[in-house]
Amino acid sequence: MGIDELDKPMGVWCNHFKAGQGCTVYGFHPQSCRTFKCMWLISPTMPEQIRPDRCKVVLTIDQGGARIVAATDPGDPGAWRREPIHGQLKRWAADKNRTLWAMVDRHAWLILPDRDIDVGETDENAFMTYDQAPDGTITVVIGDREPIVSRRP
Ligand code: SF4
Repeated sequence: MGIDELDKPMGVWCNHFKAGQGCTVYGFHPQSCRTFKCMWLISPTMPEQIRPDRCKVVLTIDQGGARIVAATDPGDPGAWRREPIHGQLKRWAADKNRTLWAMVDRHAWLILPDRDIDVGETDENAFMTYDQAPDGTITVVIGDREPIVSRRP
C-alpha cells in the first residue's frame, strides 16, 4: 500500500522494513501505519488461514464498508485465487452494496460472484466502479480510462 508520510508508492517495500525484524522504526512509525488495521485484525471471526502472513493477502475495507481490497503479495501473485480467500471474496461480492477488488502491485481485478475481471494496471486511489446491465454485461470504469466491458461468461 502507498504511505503518504513516507512518500512510499504502492507495490514498493518500505525503507524501514527489515526481513526477519519487521519495522525498524516501530514506536516512531507514521500515523497512518499506527492506525491501519486490516480486516483480519478488526474481525474476530476471521479464520486463522486468512491471517495475512499465512495467506499472503491483506484484506482492507474502506469507503464505509463499500469497498474491500485484497492486496496480494507480489511474491505470490496467485494467492488471492486460492481457498479459503477466493471463496470468501466471492461470498462478499454477492452483497451488491460492496465492490471487491484484488490487487497485485498495480494490477487489479474486479471480483464478482460469477467472474473475476482483469482490469489491468491502476492505482489504489484511482476512482474504480462498475455497472451491470440486465443481460449481465459488466462495464468497469477506472479513472478516466476507456471503460472495460465484460459479457456474462
Ligand atoms: S510500519 Fe514501519 S515498516 Fe511498516 S510501512 Fe510503516 S514505517 Fe514502514
